[in-house]
Amino acid sequence: MTRQRLVPLPIVVTDESEAPRGADLYYRCRACQGSISSQPADSVGCACGNVSIEVDYHRLVVRDFGRFEVVRRAPEVATTDTWTQLPPNALDVEVVHKNFGDGPDVTIAIRRDGDGFVLQTSAETRTSGPNVTTSERTSTVDEARSKLVEECEGWDRDMDAPLDLSALRPYEGEPPN
Ligand SMILES: [Zn+2]
Repeated sequence: MTRQRLVPLPIVVTDESEAPRGADLYYRCRACQGSISSQPADSVGCACGNVSIEVDYHRLVVRDFGRFEVVRRAPEVATTDTWTQLPPNALDVEVVHKNFGDGPDVTIAIRRDGDGFVLQTSAETRTSGPNVTTSERTSTVDEARSKLVEECEGWDRDMDAPLDLSALRPYEGEPPN
């Protein structure tokens, strides 16, 4: 399971001409929480009418810029039903956690490292303290997110895969001649 995330751009828009457009950019109305594409095929507006685009005139209309933000559609992240999002501390961009029952307790964080990002994975069992590993550095947070997805999927595969006991079954018949 994955879900789509809309991440606000760190910009303040006070005039329609300042709003960037792009295939992955959306305009979100903070009054009704509706989002519309910044490059819609047809004229479109949010439910309450605060944000709208008239395609024929290539015109964006915003009534209240205090309730307007530009958001980017971020890559889908596998931090879903089975992984829990934790509130990140100052160093972390994103933190997810999963407890594998009798298996390890795993926390994976995207952490800022200089001008890049690393993935820090901490796995702890009842009998051992945390075993922390750190990935190679990525330059963008998107790369770090896709590594996070791989890491979550890897843990799910390893921990949820049923044991193949057939390989362990002792030989019961007569030894071959
Ligand atoms: Zn609205």
